[in-house]
Amino acid sequence: AQLDTLDLVVLVALLVGSIAYFTKGTYWAVPKDPYASSAAAMNGAAKSGKTRDIVEKMDETGKNCVIFYGSQTGTAEDYASRLAKEGSQRFGLKTMVADIEDYDYENLDKFPEDKIAFFVLATYGEGEPTDNAVEFYQFLTGEDVAFESGAGADDSPLSSLKYVAFGLGNNTYEHYNAMVRHVDAALTKLGAQRIGSAGEGDDGAGTMEEDFLAWKEPMWAALSDAMGLQEREAVYEPVFSVAEDEPKGPYSAHNPYIAPIVESHELFTVKDRNCLHMEINIAGSNLSYQTGDHIAIWPTNAGVEVDRFLQVFGLGDKRDSVINIKGIDVTAKVPIPTPTTYDAAVRYYMEVCAPVSRQFVSTLAAFAPDEASKAEIVRLGNDKDYFHEKITNQCYNIAQALQSITSKQFTAVPFSLLIEGLNKLQPRYYSISSSSLVQKDKISITAVVESVRLPGASHMVKGVTTNYLLALKQKQNGDPSPDPHGLTYSITGPRNKYDGIHVPVHVRHSNFKLPSDPSKPIIMVGPGTGVAPFRGFIQERAALAAKGEKVGTTLLFFGCRKRDEDFLYQDEFKTFQEQMGDSLKIITAFSREGSEKVYVQHRLKENASLVSDLLKQKANFYVCGDAANMAREVNLVLGHIIAEQRGMPAERGEEMVKHMRSSGSYQEDVW
Ligand code: FAD
Repeated sequence: AQLDTLDLVVLVALLVGSIAYFTKGTYWAVPKDPYASSAAAMNGAAKSGKTRDIVEKMDETGKNCVIFYGSQTGTAEDYASRLAKEGSQRFGLKTMVADIEDYDYENLDKFPEDKIAFFVLATYGEGEPTDNAVEFYQFLTGEDVAFESGAGADDSPLSSLKYVAFGLGNNTYEHYNAMVRHVDAALTKLGAQRIGSAGEGDDGAGTMEEDFLAWKEPMWAALSDAMGLQEREAVYEPVFSVAEDEPKGPYSAHNPYIAPIVESHELFTVKDRNCLHMEINIAGSNLSYQTGDHIAIWPTNAGVEVDRFLQVFGLGDKRDSVINIKGIDVTAKVPIPTPTTYDAAVRYYMEVCAPVSRQFVSTLAAFAPDEASKAEIVRLGNDKDYFHEKITNQCYNIAQALQSITSKQFTAVPFSLLIEGLNKLQPRYYSISSSSLVQKDKISITAVVESVRLPGASHMVKGVTTNYLLALKQKQNGDPSPDPHGLTYSITGPRNKYDGIHVPVHVRHSNFKLPSDPSKPIIMVGPGTGVAPFRGFIQERAALAAKGEKVGTTLLFFGCRKRDEDFLYQDEFKTFQEQMGDSLKIITAFSREGSEKVYVQHRLKENASLVSDLLKQKANFYVCGDAANMAREVNLVLGHIIAEQRGMPAERGEEMVKHMRSSGSYQEDVW
């Protein structure tokens, strides 16, 4: 043939290329292929005109199978993708898919013998090539076809090229599957060796898929023979990485586990106060705990307070608008998972019920709805006593505080300012009241529901977390009034994540631990919910005793108001007593039964010689509960007891307690 390379149509381009294409490319990339990660860069290079050489490209990327497609509507491309994936998964071929216009083809005569090229070609309109295959088609079927080596049509220039062909056509058109027929004929004429038959799918008959399936099995068999491929069990390789929206472990202070509450009940017998016992299941979460650890509960704000907040800041109408929160400065850490809604941000992520800071109130002056409220806010910001009288002593949260100033809405306050100025809603900690030895997958908590009216305040302060837990308890027990105080919790959580009585939790490990030797005596002081960890301690020792282990004296000082009102776990302690016999001693202090208020520290003093004896036997001493008063007094009383019982000066007693603290035999879990 007459060759004039200048006349040669140098056809089109290269690799994968476009962004859509890049996605496809990763579709069948063998994940551990060392070249896979460079595909994007390569594609970019190809697009920019650098790499249009398919032989070179396959070499560089370690591929031995290219699947070219000529596609108009995407169907041929899709079939090409499927073939690539199947070739990779079933036969271990290193496949790549290529838009036929992305590569040059005058060098197809250099296509290595040990590799394979597929042509998946749709016929368009009246027997025409698809747009992306026009040049390829013209080149291959043209009069003056010539290749890089200089060989022309008569020299069998493609004798080293093995190929597979499949066409997509429509028999209602006259030139049914003309594209694949003509290309197949041209390739054969040029000396290339077809593997299997040239398949034809018929869209007109609606049998495209069946035609494809029927064609491909014998084709794979023929290809296996030709290339010596071993079919293997198809290994699934995902195309997309799909990350669950739900946070997954490890669960931590940054990533709570949405735990089911499996049981809950009221511990008090009085109507006006509540103390909750809850069992939280951590099975399957990879969370673990040890007796004496803490569990953190991630609360939800009460509906009424969310409503109030949104109303005050004029966000009520657009509460469900989807918002994206981004740091304007790259270092600003967004405290709220985003996108979110105003409602979800306020309900789950912002501490909107907390006491208000004077400084924060001051920053709102610039956005006040009118001059009078602005003046009032400025005064509150500048006058500490006035602020205490009007805001702090009233126990107002931010929205209540603004409502006390004006009934107008603060619509001008940027939401960013609210995110910046208010704390992120904090998890609250609870001393785990179960033993990990007895129930390793179930964490018990003992929580008194906060509902207090401070002197002078016009309203009750309802604790965020404990009232939320109360609502969950009510729901779990089918109580007709799940929101006992009309607080209307969204119990199902953001995007219904907490559906079915779940609560987000994480575990915090503590040093508040039983002695490793159960025969060592222990003294525990835990009035009120301070008894929580000691229920766990006693549960553990009772179980050990029931197994026949020797358990040392286990002395508990417990205090509450009245024996038949708020004596926590009274019945359980009776059972433990049966298991432990004399080794369990419970000494109680009821502050509202007699004419005089009796507290645990009084009982401690009364039992000075017992306490002192146990300390001589190397007892550990534990205090849990109220930090402000009780724990301090217990510390003092113990110093006195030691000094007195051992005939030492008072200061020596204090020093002994200090020493006990530093050596770990005096442990506190107080709040
Ligand atoms: P919050 O909303 O946090 O309110 C708490 C208190 O803050 C209110 O009672 C009120 O006095 C004040 N307050 C809130 N808002 C306002 C306002 N707007 N104006 C003025 N004052 C306001 N508790 C238990 O019941 N059992 C336990 O076993 C237990 N273990 C704990 C262990 C540790 C290590 C710690 C740190 C704490 C423990 N707590 C325990 C306490 C518990 O973490 C919570 O603090 C408690 O349950 C109250 O949480 P809340 O969200 O219901 O109340």
